[in-house]
Amino acid sequence: MTDVILTINAGSSSLKFALHPVNAPLTPVLRGKVTGLKRKPVFSISTPQEIKAALPKLARDCTHEAATEILLDWLAQNAAEYHITAVGHRVVHGGQEFTGPARVTDDVIAKLDALTPLAPLHQPHNLAAIRLIAARSSDMPQVACFDTSFHTTQDPLAKLFALPRELSEDGLVRYGFHGLSYEFIASALPDHIADKAHGNVIVAHLGNGASLCAMKNGHSVATTMGFTALDGLVMGRRSGRIDPGVILHLVQQRGMSVPEIEKLLYQQSGLLGVSGISNAMQDLEASDDPQAKLAIDLFCYRASAEIAALIPALGGLDALVFTAGIGENSANTRAQICDRLKWIGIEIDPSANASSATRIAAKEARCDVLVIPTNEDAVIAQSTIKLI
Ligand code: ADP
Repeated sequence: MTDVILTINAGSSSLKFALHPVNAPLTPVLRGKVTGLKRKPVFSISTPQEIKAALPKLARDCTHEAATEILLDWLAQNAAEYHITAVGHRVVHGGQEFTGPARVTDDVIAKLDALTPLAPLHQPHNLAAIRLIAARSSDMPQVACFDTSFHTTQDPLAKLFALPRELSEDGLVRYGFHGLSYEFIASALPDHIADKAHGNVIVAHLGNGASLCAMKNGHSVATTMGFTALDGLVMGRRSGRIDPGVILHLVQQRGMSVPEIEKLLYQQSGLLGVSGISNAMQDLEASDDPQAKLAIDLFCYRASAEIAALIPALGGLDALVFTAGIGENSANTRAQICDRLKWIGIEIDPSANASSATRIAAKEARCDVLVIPTNEDAVIAQSTIKLI
């Protein structure tokens, strides 16, 4: 029997999972996901591709708890050759206290529960999986790995909103997210750009959720997401940064309620809202509708503008890294973003970019440009192994 770590990444409507061998945590032996929770849930396995086991059919109203329960039962029956020694969870918010992975205890659960108002769409689902596993097997070690922790190295200046001091002291500051992805990229950089890995690097995590992280010597110095994961770039369904006056207008002039505005900003905006077609970049790229083109153009324009806005936090730029679904796969997005940044020494080689090569900068360009697939699960598995 092989000892493995089960990693669980509970999103707002999905549950991703993987089994990582304790002696080779970078390469999962099994990986899958439940998508479409609360709409049309589907259980799928991507690794190993040849899996023969019948996959469970999920009820339409399947919750995150029920999906976790079904997953654990399915693993017990169909992956019995693997012995789960611990479970590592992605937890979106660690607040000001959790600056690194934490072994789960009742006290930790209570502290994370108190942070739910700061991440209402994610934190309850993260905690639901943790609680369910604790209830099923109280002696199973569990580790929480936070999306916010990577950014705790930032200077207070980069975290501050220009709000009255009492509010900042009360925790209304920029936290930043996607930290597990940034931690993975920071650890992979020296293999690709030995010397520059310790220089000034901006990582563009462009997935359904999207953000940028400015890193110096592999540490976060600034990021585009803020108090919540709504700030910064245009995303699949999220607006990214907007004038806060728009929200006042929606309340005062249009009489919208808080839940309506929350839905508008988190689920009906971004690529989906602008295009009116889809939140998926490949759907927009395949469309000849002018609104699809407009949504892509806005996504790329805003990303290039936010990259430029991070440069003062670094004082220069040695490398730009693209990662996550769009960053890893969409040559068009990378080309459009880089095209607006020629003035800071970014220039890409069109054929290297078209084939999503690891290094896509033109030979004579001053700044390196890379495409590195992220691996948040591996970071969770490694952190879990370290803590247990
Ligand atoms: P998340 O983990 O935040 O759900 P991912 O990192 O999986 O997101 O990225 C999802 C995004 O990647 C979607 O917008 C999807 O359309 C986009 N994407 C995936 N593959 C491609 C591709 N081949 N071309 C363009 N976009 C792609």
